[in-house]
Amino acid sequence: MSLLVVGSVALDDVESPAGRVTGVLGGAACHFAVAARHFVPVSIVGVVGEDFPPEHLEFLASRGIDITGIYSAPGRTFRWGGRYHASLNTRDTLFTELGVFETFKPELDAHQRASDFVFLANTHPSLQLEVLSQVASPRFTAMDTMNFWIEGTPAELRQTLQRVNGLILNDEEARQLTGEYNLVKAAASIRALGPQVVVIKRGEHGALLFDREGIFAAPAFPLHEVVDPTGAGDSFAGGFMGALAHEGRVDSETLRRAVVYGSALASFCVERFGLDRMRDLARAEIDTRYAHFRALTHF
Ligand code: AMP
Repeated sequence: MSLLVVGSVALDDVESPAGRVTGVLGGAACHFAVAARHFVPVSIVGVVGEDFPPEHLEFLASRGIDITGIYSAPGRTFRWGGRYHASLNTRDTLFTELGVFETFKPELDAHQRASDFVFLANTHPSLQLEVLSQVASPRFTAMDTMNFWIEGTPAELRQTLQRVNGLILNDEEARQLTGEYNLVKAAASIRALGPQVVVIKRGEHGALLFDREGIFAAPAFPLHEVVDPTGAGDSFAGGFMGALAHEGRVDSETLRRAVVYGSALASFCVERFGLDRMRDLARAEIDTRYAHFRALTHF
């Protein structure tokens, strides 16, 4: 099964209690793809500016990621900066410079249009819908969103939600989108808007899956140290969608395993800055952590 991700390719500056990095490879699409590559062939559709270091593209390609859908446009690459507080649960966005991402207009080629699994990373909901309409007959589509679109473009977001099979978002976003504090009620409201599979991420408290069979809860992996939470959500989505695409099914059992794979990939992502931990992550390490998740929740 083929897997397509559309979203930001970025250069990030991150400060956390563990240190700081500047101009590192980031972006939702990169975090997603670097996690999903362990399961199936994954293609990125995105845009970079003239300032984008070619070694980043070489790195993605060297990990088997199809980068033919990343085009270069005149201008600067999307840049994002964030600072984490001591708890690591909250962060301040220091800057968001859209650059070439502001006029990102993806045109999928024939191969990308034939994708089986599609993830629409966080962008303008109308852009997500436009991309979705170019995919011929996907088996399963899922999307992410954020407070900016929930507040700023609610009508467009609802239109896009009607067309996707799954929504992956965090607890605060679920509450904001539905006006329901209770996450069980919030998930029911979201399912009434369209997506039949809803995953609500709760940071260090794990993730909840809601589908037609009911609810499944997975913990977050208890780590000694979290260095940089940036991209955890996208790594989760990459592991989740990658595992589904690998199995080629989206029944409840598969969805539950996919949530655990998503949680495992997110737990690796946060162990070091940027993509440092994910760069050379081995499939065997993922399988070991998956087994640890099983032990952690067995009683
Ligand atoms: P997350 O930690 O899951 O929120 O993802 C962080 C990644 O998303 C970083 O690598 C950023 O480059 C990227 N990012 C931050 N803000 C945006 C935005 N408004 N649109 C698209 N990507 C973003």
